[in-house]
Amino acid sequence: MKIKDFVIPTKISEAYEFAHSLGQSAYYIAGGTSAYFVQANAEKVAIDISKLPLFGITAKRDSFRIGALTTISDIMKKEEDGFILNRAAKKFVNQQIRNISTIGGNIARVFYWSDFPVVLKTLDGKIKITGFDSKILKISDVFHNSTTHKEAIGNAIIEYIEIPRLLKNMGFSYSKETRISSGFSSATVASFIELKDNKIKDVRITIGSVFIFPMRLFELENSLKGEPADFSIFNKINFNLLDKYKFNPRDGMSLEYCKHLVKTRIKDVLVESLKEALGEK
Ligand SMILES: Cc1cc2nc3c(=O)[nH]c(=O)nc-3n(C[C@H](O)[C@H](O)[C@H](O)COP(=O)(O)OP(=O)(O)OC[C@H]3O[C@@H](n4cnc5c(N)ncnc54)[C@H](O)[C@@H]3O)c2cc1C
Repeated sequence: MKIKDFVIPTKISEAYEFAHSLGQSAYYIAGGTSAYFVQANAEKVAIDISKLPLFGITAKRDSFRIGALTTISDIMKKEEDGFILNRAAKKFVNQQIRNISTIGGNIARVFYWSDFPVVLKTLDGKIKITGFDSKILKISDVFHNSTTHKEAIGNAIIEYIEIPRLLKNMGFSYSKETRISSGFSSATVASFIELKDNKIKDVRITIGSVFIFPMRLFELENSLKGEPADFSIFNKINFNLLDKYKFNPRDGMSLEYCKHLVKTRIKDVLVESLKEALGEK
């Protein structure tokens, strides 16, 4: 990427208006870690948004609001009942990148290895996006697919995300497979389970890395809803429901191995989520 100009706005409206006037050549810099992955000959005007007031994690009664400029390191350090993004932050590459990379930057542009889009799509919640107007949208709508994501964000600024607090009858787990310890993901799987009357009331499963854009497995989820909160149900998962998806194996994996890995990890995260929902961990 060639930077032909550089501005440092201090107001969200100023940053957006500038980006809007530039169109395709505008490039917000938050942590700046993705600049490396932008086409080498692309000419951009960098809009450094790191001075905008979008920092920090605010605990609310049923949720947590995370400013877009909050670093992955700060998310990792946050310890509070019901806050679970720190689990994904611990699996994020290495401390150097965690120190610089922001949650907004991680979800504004989705690479196959991006951790937080997979996690947020599973937890759902809200996202505030500001262009000429501000909108608060459901994360699941924005991250439905790459088109909805592109349309919702465009050149606008993500201000914050708000995710639900994990309550007593709920469980969450995130699995990330890499070939070497700080390598890009070969397969990521996140799951969430909510119990009611000792049955699975809600279950969400999202797969990343092996698809271009993270994918929720709605049919598989539906097949588990209403089942008893018993680990044996995971031995009967109908994995044929995955046959219709086009997998992109990474790191030289064969397609067969890739599918096998994903199935194994789905089971693992579901077991961990159920354990937590049952209060066993
Ligand atoms: C070697 C290496 C390995 C990595 N491994 C992983 C990994 O395993 N998992 C993982 O999840 N990530 C990984 N990353 C980080 C990831 O690829 C992104 O580079 C990073 O998350 C972007 O965050 P940032 O704050 O640096 O954003 P920037 O690079 O500053 O910006 C990224 C994009 O988002 C836009 N943007 C930034 N903030 C906002 C905002 N608030 N509103 C709207 N648009 C915005 C920018 O215009 C740009 O297009 C890795 C990075 C490197 C360099």
